[in-house]
Amino acid sequence: MVSEETLKLQLSLKCPICGSNLQLIENSTYIILGCPNCKIYTRMTKKHIYRSYIEYEGNKIHLKWAELIKELYIRISGKAHLEPDES
Ligand SMILES: [Zn+2]
Repeated sequence: MVSEETLKLQLSLKCPICGSNLQLIENSTYIILGCPNCKIYTRMTKKHIYRSYIEYEGNKIHLKWAELIKELYIRISGKAHLEPDES
């Protein structure tokens, strides 16, 4: 396996289960939101993000960060009530 760049960012968003700060993790393929304490993670491919969360306006590009984080947070809140699965 090739080691790849991973970027971790501690957020002020709280885990829906334990209340710890959530982490945003980025690697070459995915953006991942997760709780390092509960080990629940949800991920989105960058491809999907480029398709759904980027708006082009002339020669300007807007990344809809707030919507992206909100969607990831909704997903992780859903996982709080479900068995962890990676689909
Ligand atoms: Zn947690």
